[in-house]
Amino acid sequence: MAAVLWDYEEPLRVEEVDVDDPGPGEVLVRIAVAGICHTDEHVITGDLPLPVPMVLGHEGSGVVAAVGEGVRGVAVGDRVVLSWLPECNDCVPCNRGWTGMCETTKKAAEKGTLWRGRTGVQHKGERLHVMSLVGAFAEYALVPAAGIVPVPDEIPLELAALIGCSATTGYGAVAHAARMPEGAEVAVIGAGGVGQSVVMAARMRGAGRIIAVDRSPERLEEATRHGATDVVLAGTNDALQAILDLTGGYGVDQAFEVVGTPETIAQAFNALRPGGTAVVVGVSPPHLDVSLNAFTFPSQQKTLTGTWYGGGVLADDAPQLFAAYRQGTFDLAALAGPTFRLDQINEAFDAMRHGRAGRPLLRLSDDR
Ligand SMILES: [Zn+2]
Ligand SMILES: [Zn+2]
Repeated sequence: MAAVLWDYEEPLRVEEVDVDDPGPGEVLVRIAVAGICHTDEHVITGDLPLPVPMVLGHEGSGVVAAVGEGVRGVAVGDRVVLSWLPECNDCVPCNRGWTGMCETTKKAAEKGTLWRGRTGVQHKGERLHVMSLVGAFAEYALVPAAGIVPVPDEIPLELAALIGCSATTGYGAVAHAARMPEGAEVAVIGAGGVGQSVVMAARMRGAGRIIAVDRSPERLEEATRHGATDVVLAGTNDALQAILDLTGGYGVDQAFEVVGTPETIAQAFNALRPGGTAVVVGVSPPHLDVSLNAFTFPSQQKTLTGTWYGGGVLADDAPQLFAAYRQGTFDLAALAGPTFRLDQINEAFDAMRHGRAGRPLLRLSDDR
């Protein structure tokens, strides 16, 4: 079974699907838990124009069910978390060490296929696309072997799933993209799953002040539990002015945009003090531009950058996050929200749309 998006703006439909055996370099994973991410929602609305019909879902964990030819170091029964950015190690960016920009993966993700152009997933003979080389809203996912990372025995698969997107993206935005210095004053604009993990990662790194901005009071309360020192309810007041007021009119050292709109990107940039850095984490529809004051660049030496999946490599970041969870400095469990069954997937999306706290999770098997 898998949740299929047949057309944009439609509810997902749970369908019987056939999944091929893994080919060379591939692994079949029985999905245990999948998380619902805003990027999935962007595909449903068509803002992120991926081909349909598609099995959505790119944040998940599970157990290896079958291993293809030539795959080493992986065995049936291994507990794993899935990466939506497997590195091919055979393209120009990969050879230069920018594996997060892997062109082979980027092209495949845009086509909704695996690396070799197939998806291996069908419904009554019709090929279904898969999201981001994962397609986690399904009982089984066929993925490149480079897209799995082992999960230590003591980490529940429910929490490991969060490492597949939200936790890693937030952590990487702070650790890799911003290289946040201790004591930094920061703003986090957007407090969904990724925004909450930015807050957590900022606290772990010793931020001096963390200002969380969101339209949902429930999410702001959650951000406070995770380490936000100040909150700004957006929508009803001027969030930029509120950040400036909180910082004596100077602005913050670093700002994280975790919404994905031109307005909030400009807000993040304008909330910086001179010399500050803004990191765009949110995914905007591809056709939009941002308007910024040109004189600010030379006169205030601000940096505006972005990050895709946090800018790290999951195989390196996941062990760091598992260790931080064990040490109690990164509370993965607190990021998890309500759990749903596959046939409740549209309710799970509604929970996210209505700004409920915590990442909605789908439970797809009994594997723990
Ligand atoms: Zn995501
Ligand atoms: Zn590559």
